[in-house]
Order: sequence, then structure tokens, then C-alpha cells
Amino acid sequence: MDEPEQPQRARHGSASSREIVQRRKLYEDIGDFLFAHDLDLTPLNFGVAHDYLTGSHIGVEKAVKAVLAERGKITNGWVENVAAEQRNDEVTPEALASMLDKVEENLSQFTGLMTESRNSAKDYGAALQEEVKGLAAGSDNQPVLARLVALTRSMVEKTRQVETQLRDNQKQTQLLKSNLESARRAAEHDHLTGLPNRRAFEGTLREELAQAQKEGQQLAVAFCDIDHFKLINDTHGHDTGDRVLKFVAGLLSKVSNDQCHVARHGGEEFVMLFRGKTAAEACEAVDSVRQDLSTRSLVNRANGERMERVSFSAGVANVLAYEDPRAALKAADRALYLAKEHGRNRVYLAAELD
Ligand code: GH3
Ligand code: MG
Ligand code: MG
Repeated sequence: MDEPEQPQRARHGSASSREIVQRRKLYEDIGDFLFAHDLDLTPLNFGVAHDYLTGSHIGVEKAVKAVLAERGKITNGWVENVAAEQRNDEVTPEALASMLDKVEENLSQFTGLMTESRNSAKDYGAALQEEVKGLAAGSDNQPVLARLVALTRSMVEKTRQVETQLRDNQKQTQLLKSNLESARRAAEHDHLTGLPNRRAFEGTLREELAQAQKEGQQLAVAFCDIDHFKLINDTHGHDTGDRVLKFVAGLLSKVSNDQCHVARHGGEEFVMLFRGKTAAEACEAVDSVRQDLSTRSLVNRANGERMERVSFSAGVANVLAYEDPRAALKAADRALYLAKEHGRNRVYLAAELD
């Protein structure tokens, strides 16, 4: 590499030299990876190489490892397929934009139909009035009556047309509604465990905080992190790791109800929110799940072998003792860190005078 060191330092401002070295290594690793597999320099290939080498997308990492083990080689076509597969349940900006376009189109069609319908009713009313004026007692009203009948017929026909169009519009709106519902579900749920994700949890936290404050209730938050999960993956493979994640998610979900929410915060980390429980009570609730898990002996379904004990550590904090929920989350995270430091498989309560 003959790129001078100086301009790079300037560009990255305060980045430490270790960070710069790491970044440069990542550039090189991505380049080597693309070159080794004779992959075109496309954003898609770059993205997959990046996700694989940094481990930032577990699905991509898994898929690349599997194909490398099987065929030892990656092709442009394979990258396209894997990217489509891994991202198909993510709500892409394109999908959202197209849904919004349809909503807009439906709305303007609906507004148009309403205006049309109102105008024709108005026109009909005005024409009726006009014709009625022409009706005179004792004179020959036949021609006026004929015109009235014609007018009414055309109004009935118009109404029928508008009705048909409205029915079509309604069908499309129904379809859109269900598309939007599945988009919302995909945006707020983790597809592996089916639990709400971090984004959904943040909304729940805001709502539950408002509710707790309104009702004068307690509110506690817990961070749970599976112990030595990397080792579980390394020993038994990612698929077994995934099953362990689902299993733990299931155990935590068992305690959830309308006052206790569980979400997958990311990776092998779960977050729980307890309304109406003190932090100490929440600690007990989490600890009973921890105890339950740590005394089970799980079997690796892939080969029938017993797995070493699976456990998690957790940190719990009283949300109302902190200035804002973010500070409470940080405190719970610190307590989790201490639980790890002190040997794992334990639940710690955050000290409130942090
Ligand atoms: P600690 O006890 O300190 O928490 O150790 P750890 O090994 O659990 O923690 P670390 O953060 O080192 O490793 C977490 C691992 O979790 C790394 C990552 O590959 C794995 N992981 C994250 N998400 C998933 C997933 O969806 N499925 C699987 N199988 N593994 C995942
Ligand atoms: Mg972790
Ligand atoms: Mg962990």
C-alpha cells in the first residue's frame, strides 16, 4: 500500500491509530475476499463481504460459512440469492415507499370519488329545482316529468358507478391495510424468536413509563445476556445456537403478561420491563427464570448429545430512580456487566446511587 498515512489521519479526526489500523485491515480483508472469489465490485458483494467479515449480520455470516464449507467458493449469483433471502423479511425502504405511494393513490382516488359524488348530487339537486319550477298547476307537465325521470335515471346510474368504484377502492384499502400490518410486524419483531425487537421495546418503554407515572406504579427494567454464548455456537454450531436463543426467549416469554414485556434487544441479549414491580421484585422474577434455565439439561437436537448447562446473567434497575429511561437501561447494563464479572449465572440489582 502506498497511500500516505497523513491524509488519512486528518480525515478520521480523533480516531486512534489502533482504530485506523483495524479499519485499514477491514478494507484489505474485504478486498481480498472479493478478489479471492472473483466477485464483481458491487455494493451487494461489498455488503455481504462486510457483513461476513465483521459478523454484523448473523444470517449472512451463517450462509457464507455454510457455502464455504460445502463448495469453498462464492459466486456473484449466490450473493444475490443470499442477500435476497436474508433481507426478505426486512422492510426495505423501497417496499415502504411503494406502499406509501399506493396509500396516497387510494386516498386521492377516494377524495376524487367523494367530490364527484357530491358534485353530481348537487347538480342533480339544482337541476331538480330548475325542473320543478317549470311544473305548473293545470298545464301540460308531461315534457317536464319526462326530463325529471331522465335526470333521476342518470343520477341513479352515476351513483351506481361511484358505488362500484368505491367498492374497488375499499378492496385495495383492505389489501394495503394487511400489507401495512405485516410490514409493521416485520419492523417490530425479531424473526428468529418471534419476540418484539429493540425498536418495539423502545416504544413499549415510553408507553409503560407514562402508564406507571399516571398510575403511581413501580417500573423496573432487566437486561439478560446468555453466558458464553459464543462458545455454544463454536461448540455446537449456529443452528443449535439459534435453537438455544429460541428456547431462552420462550422461557422469558412465559413470565410476560400485560405488565411484563420481553424483547430481543439484539444478539443473545434480552430485555424485560416490569410495571407494578419494584426492582427487587423484578430481580426475583428474573432470577426464577435464571434458576429454571440453569438447572435444565438441554439436548442438542442435531446429534442427541447433552449440552453443557446454559445460563444467563442479568442486571435489573428501577426505571423511576433515574433521570430518563436511557440512564436506567445503562444502570441495568452495568449491573449485568458486574454479574458477568462476578462469575455469570446470576442476577444483580443496580445500585441506585450510581
Ligand atoms: P458473555 O458470557 O460474556 O456474554 O460471553 P458471550 O460469548 O455470550 O458474548 P459475546 O458477545 O462474546 O458473543 C456473543 C455471540 O452471540 C457472538 C455472536 O456470533 C452470537 N450471536 C449473536 N446473534 C446470534 C444469533 O442470532 N444466532 C446465533 N446462533 N448466534 C448469535
Ligand atoms: Mg452479549
Ligand atoms: Mg453473552
